[in-house]
Amino acid sequence: MGRFLATLLASAALCASLSLQAHAELDVVSLKSAIERSVESDYPKLDALYKDIHAHPEIAFQEEKTAAKLAAEMRALGFDVTEHVGETGLVAIYKNGDGPTIMVRTELDALPMEEKTGLPYASHDKTIWQGRETFVAHSCGHDIHMASWMGTAKTLVGLKDQWHGTLMFIAQPAEEILSGAKAMLADGLFTRFPKPNFGFALHDGPFAYGDVLYRVGIGSSNADSLHIKFRGRGGHGAMPQATIDPVMMAARFVVDVQSVVSREKDPTEFGVVSIGAIHGGTAENIIPDDVMLFGTIRTFKPEVRAKMLAGIERTAKTVATMSNAPEPEIKITEGAKAVINDPGVVGTAEKVLKAAFGDKFRPSPPSTPSEDYSEFINAGVPSMFFNIGVYEPERVAAAREGPQLPANHSPLFAPVPKPTIETGVEAMTLAVLSVFDQHARGK
Ligand SMILES: [Zn+2]
Ligand SMILES: [Zn+2]
Repeated sequence: MGRFLATLLASAALCASLSLQAHAELDVVSLKSAIERSVESDYPKLDALYKDIHAHPEIAFQEEKTAAKLAAEMRALGFDVTEHVGETGLVAIYKNGDGPTIMVRTELDALPMEEKTGLPYASHDKTIWQGRETFVAHSCGHDIHMASWMGTAKTLVGLKDQWHGTLMFIAQPAEEILSGAKAMLADGLFTRFPKPNFGFALHDGPFAYGDVLYRVGIGSSNADSLHIKFRGRGGHGAMPQATIDPVMMAARFVVDVQSVVSREKDPTEFGVVSIGAIHGGTAENIIPDDVMLFGTIRTFKPEVRAKMLAGIERTAKTVATMSNAPEPEIKITEGAKAVINDPGVVGTAEKVLKAAFGDKFRPSPPSTPSEDYSEFINAGVPSMFFNIGVYEPERVAAAREGPQLPANHSPLFAPVPKPTIETGVEAMTLAVLSVFDQHARGK
C-alpha cells in the first residue's frame, strides 16, 4: 500500500488530535475523488454491461452467458479466470506481489418472475424453471452487484501500485436458492484456489443511492424451509365422521404455529415462521387423504432457531394427535446460516468508509432475508457484507410518508444505475484497500 492511504489510516487512528483527524479526512476524500474520476471514465462500459445483463437475466445454475460475459471482461483486465466452478460460477485471480488474498464476491443469478418496470432495458426473457415456463428478471439487483464488482476489479488494477497481494474475484451462481456458495465450495473453491484471508460482498436495497449501510455481527437471518404432510383418511364431505380431515389439521396448524412465535420465543428476539403454500384436495365435497404445507423459518440466533424448530414440530404432531391422525411427515431443511460480519474487518474498513462517506456510511439493524455468503464466512473467511441504496434520495424521503418504494423481489424494483454502481465501486474499492493497507502495516 502506498504512503497515501497508510498516512490517512495512521492519522485516523490518532483521533486525539483534531488537526490530524482533519488531515485524515482530507486524504480519504482525495483518494475517493481519484476513485470517482476513474469510475466516471469507466462508467459507459459498466452501464452497457449492466443494461445487457439486466435485459438478459439467467436463473440459478443457468447463468452460462452471464458468467461468460464477466469472464471475458476479467481476462481483458489481466485476471486469470477459471469458469464452471460450482456449475456456472467463476473465479478470477490477480496476483500483485506479496500480501493477503482478498475475496470479492458477486452473485450471477436472477429470479423466476416478470419484470414490470417498463424500463427501456427491462427483461422480456423467459426460461424453463422446475418444468414450467417462466419470465426471468434481475429483481434482486444482482446485475448491480456484477457491474460494481467489475468496476471494483478495474479500479483496483488501475491502483495496483497502492497495494500488494492477491485479488480473488468470484462470481457465484444460484444465490436465490441458497445453493451456489455451497456448490463452489464443494468444487474446491478454497482448495483449487488460494483460501482468502478476508472477504467482501455487497447487496443493494430500497434506500437512497450514495448511502452505505453496515453491521457489526449478525447481518442476515438463518433460513430453514419447512415441508409438512398431514396424513388423514379421505372420504365424502357430507360424512366427515368416516374420515380424518387433513384440511382441518392444516388450518389448525397454520393458526396455532404462530403461538410458537408469540408465546414461546423471547419477544425481544427475531424469529418468524410463514406458511407460503398449502396444497390439498380437488373438489368441494371430497375430503382429501392428505394436505401439504410449505413454509419458511427465519431467525438470527442458534438458540432461538432451536426453540422455534422444536415448537413447530411439536405443534404439527399435536395437531395430528388432536385429529386422531397418523404422525405427520415433517421435513425441515437448513438453508443459509446468518451472515456474521467480522469485527476486525469491519473495524478496518469502517475508518476509511466513514471518512469517505461521512453520515452516508452508517450502521443498520440486521435484515431478515437470508444470504448464502454465510457459507464462505463459516468456511473460515472473516468478512464484511454491506448494503448500498438504489433510489433518488428525494423519492426515499417522500416515501417515508406515502407508499413504500418497490423493494428487492418486487416486479417494480428499479435501481438508478449510475449513482448506485458508482457508490458500489467506490465503497468496495476503499474497503479492499483498507484491508491491504492494514496488513501491509503488520496489524
Ligand atoms: Zn434475492
Ligand atoms: Zn439478492
